[in-house]
Amino acid sequence: MDLGSELLTPRRMTRQIHVGDVAVGGGAPVSVQSMTTTQTADVEGTLAQIYALAAAGADIVRCTCNEEAAAEGLAQIVPRSPVPIIADIHFHHEMALAALEAGVQGLRLNPGNLRKEAEIKQVAGEALDRGVPIRIGVNAGSLHPDLYKRFGGATPEALVESARMELAYFEEVGFTDVKISVKASSVALMIAAYRLAAETFDHPLHLGVTEAGPPPAGLVKGTAGIATLLAEGIGDTIRYSLTADPVEEAKAGRQLLEALGLRERKGLDLIACPSCGRAQVDVIAVAKAAQEALEDRNLPIQVAVMGCVVNGPGEARSADIGIAAGKKKGHLFIRGQIVRVVPEEDMVGALVAEAEKLVAEGVEARLAAADAGAEAEAEADRLALLGEAVDPNATQVRIERIRRTVEATGTDGGG
Ligand code: SF4
Repeated sequence: MDLGSELLTPRRMTRQIHVGDVAVGGGAPVSVQSMTTTQTADVEGTLAQIYALAAAGADIVRCTCNEEAAAEGLAQIVPRSPVPIIADIHFHHEMALAALEAGVQGLRLNPGNLRKEAEIKQVAGEALDRGVPIRIGVNAGSLHPDLYKRFGGATPEALVESARMELAYFEEVGFTDVKISVKASSVALMIAAYRLAAETFDHPLHLGVTEAGPPPAGLVKGTAGIATLLAEGIGDTIRYSLTADPVEEAKAGRQLLEALGLRERKGLDLIACPSCGRAQVDVIAVAKAAQEALEDRNLPIQVAVMGCVVNGPGEARSADIGIAAGKKKGHLFIRGQIVRVVPEEDMVGALVAEAEKLVAEGVEARLAAADAGAEAEAEADRLALLGEAVDPNATQVRIERIRRTVEATGTDGGG
């Protein structure tokens, strides 16, 4: 399928690792990650969130393993989880060992706060024996103080050096099953650090803008960093860090990959015009009603809601199906071709019904089932609207009036 990603910079080839049954790097599809916000010791609550994250598009889920009760929880969560589980480890290497014992499919270690060489090597040796990969998760905010001093701050070079030092410890015990992240809350710093990491390592990279904050600003920051790198071919797995329900992170991750053509569309993609003075209907209200009606059905198609029939069907020609408003009617179109004209109040219902048939029967069948005369009726409405908008005689009178107003007020644009 032509997803459009072939127009981006070709993806950087990396080694491949496996987090459970999810391949990361080495040409595997870019995966989506998120992290639970429950206490990991709360097995049922955590599993409920993991299921919600998986349904929203997460391929891999991370849970904190910050105490013994969390490790015990992981032992029950891992066998019941629909996706591989990664244990997030800070400060205590014992928690990494306990998480491995619990059967997690991956670890994330923060080299900024797990600093003892012997302990790092012990964890890597244990992971090697069990065939479990580790993410070296460098974070600008918790960079090792020595590196901070040596590089004069959390620079891209300092972040990459932190990952390189950890990797060197791993390699001393023969462990190479690694992916790397060099996150920062500054988008510019994060982009520069990942570009350097991509030049330095051939390991898969886990992308993220850390502590991006609540949406919409958090979404903008995450997208600015992650999408920029993905478009350059950098990045093998991604995580949005939002101050929000983590389901929003999973949704955003999945939607970003679908928007870039890096993953096949799994659910609905609703596009809508931003509306303007030409709009013949309340586009925001119609788009909202269409989204609500279509979302639960989870149809893997692109649906367009356009405010006017003058430009709508043409501008949304690439959508699988859409509706445009004009003269108190809805003009239903499939791939830009009008198939039916319905009363304005039936717009959303007609759109939903046709979308379901489109998914069941395919484009060709639904185009063949188009109402005779729909194209002609729509064209007549379109021409009538254009004619109402521009009557040459009336326009001449109005231009004359505008000129007099401008002269009278002195607002001739000069100076
Ligand atoms: Fe304006 Fe029509 Fe374009 Fe919507 S489709 S932005 S209403 S011109």
